[in-house]
Amino acid sequence: MVVLGYGGGGAITAIEAADAGADVVILEKNPADRHICNTNVSGGIFICPTDVEKAFQYIKACVGDTVDDTLCRIWATQTSTNKEYLKRLAESVGEPSDMMRLGGAEFPDLPGADGISSWVLKSGLGAKLFEVLDKCVKAHKNIRVAYSSPGKRLVQDESRAILGVVAERDAKEITIRARRATILASGGFEFNDQVKLNAFYGNPRYFYGTDSNTGDGLLMAIAAGADLWHMNWSSQHYGFYYKNFPVGMILGGIAKPSYLVVDQYGKRYFNESYNGHSAYAYFIFFDPLKGVYPRIPSYLVFDEQVRTMGAPLSPNTGPGGDVIGAKTAKYGYYWSTDQSKEIENGWVLKADTIEELALLIRARQGPNEFVDYTSSIQMEPTVLAKSVATFNANARQHEDPEFGRRVLAPLEKGPFYATEVWPCGPNTQGGPKFDSHGRVLDVCGNPIPRLYKAGELGSIYGQRYPSGGGNLAEILAFGRIAGQNAAKELA
Ligand SMILES: Cc1cc2nc3c(=O)[nH]c(=O)nc-3n(C[C@H](O)[C@H](O)[C@H](O)COP(=O)(O)OP(=O)(O)OC[C@H]3O[C@@H](n4cnc5c(N)ncnc54)[C@H](O)[C@@H]3O)c2cc1C
Repeated sequence: MVVLGYGGGGAITAIEAADAGADVVILEKNPADRHICNTNVSGGIFICPTDVEKAFQYIKACVGDTVDDTLCRIWATQTSTNKEYLKRLAESVGEPSDMMRLGGAEFPDLPGADGISSWVLKSGLGAKLFEVLDKCVKAHKNIRVAYSSPGKRLVQDESRAILGVVAERDAKEITIRARRATILASGGFEFNDQVKLNAFYGNPRYFYGTDSNTGDGLLMAIAAGADLWHMNWSSQHYGFYYKNFPVGMILGGIAKPSYLVVDQYGKRYFNESYNGHSAYAYFIFFDPLKGVYPRIPSYLVFDEQVRTMGAPLSPNTGPGGDVIGAKTAKYGYYWSTDQSKEIENGWVLKADTIEELALLIRARQGPNEFVDYTSSIQMEPTVLAKSVATFNANARQHEDPEFGRRVLAPLEKGPFYATEVWPCGPNTQGGPKFDSHGRVLDVCGNPIPRLYKAGELGSIYGQRYPSGGGNLAEILAFGRIAGQNAAKELA
């Protein structure tokens, strides 16, 4: 069996298939000594619902109309065994298996929300989770991981069955035959600009996971005749991106509430305190008459109290210890705890008054060395000043009649600051549609013979991402299903 991609999805399908008797080759694009995948830079959080029926109601409400009840029910049943499954894996390789609860549903008002809980290994985040999976993989004699071996295309016969994968190794093409099945687990298309432009309503959107996820498996699935789903949906908050840094950066919780977000005119348009996994949806409004996305980018405007809150605006910083430390370490950047480095390098704009800040923003409205967009919109100092004055007046009354933000404080203490915020997040969800066996489906709803998928490539999630831990929950749950079923294909 061939598995394309060594992330969480690839690891779990490989483990399950190997346990069922298959010989497995995992092809991984990255070299062994620089193997960064989304799983090993993630928070390691996964959903394990406490109530199957409630979980079914909740996931059905989250994913919208694209996913049928059968798959929603399997999601509910299977994810409810995630803790037990991960515990078993960890203990099998002598790793600690204690877990702690981290939270619940992202949309508490949806039906069944109180049946959702998210968990993480007490011993560490995504790096630890992947270490456990990696140890399990390496403990199997019938799994071989081939690093520096990017898959290039699928081999398909006249009956459309997938026979294996053509990969590149040492600058030569090699063909690996899959006697049972091929599993696409190569992650999303976070770093494929062409696919993003075509698939997304609302561009540009940026990501902060591994830049080796360039949609390779997606393109192979399309070439093999796969149907697609959830291409427009992603897991994205609002966060930072600067043209002179290669990946997006997460925006951490802002410890002081004297900040707001405005569009390119300088107007507020949403409750900024929601920066969950679907927050990007507020940004993707398109003005057809002007031909622009006036909220991409938007601007985070804050005062001296926020600047001096004692924490970096982007917590992908500080030696070790954070969710994407491994990623930023790769690029060698750490955000300063008083934002001073970012003011100095021009990422964060600084002015004595809000009107002056608006003029600085206007001068930055791209394209230039920091941002790569063109827009006919110019920020007006009077518009931004009015937005801030209204926000301040409401904040003094502890109310936000327009958008319902609960915690807000006036921007009173200058200097004032601003920086671009974009739809920015961990991962895409779109890709090949799959069935209850984990098989990739064609546009007529029939399985493409011997082709399976796992992980965020063609995720079940559309519309609303259920809560922190959704993607890893899916890997643990559907990865098992895909691996077990793929192993049953005739050898
Ligand atoms: C910073 C961050 C934090 C996150 N936190 C969480 C969290 O706490 N909980 C949660 O549920 N989700 C989280 N996510 C999302 C989650 O981590 C991912 O959706 C999930 O790990 C994806 O797993 P995967 O196996 O599909 O892909 P990955 O883990 O990304 O693995 C894909 C692998 O395929 C390889 N590959 C790509 N192309 C090829 C090719 N042509 N040939 C061979 N190999 C290829 C890649 O190099 C990579 O190693 C987070 C993501 C990020 C970036």
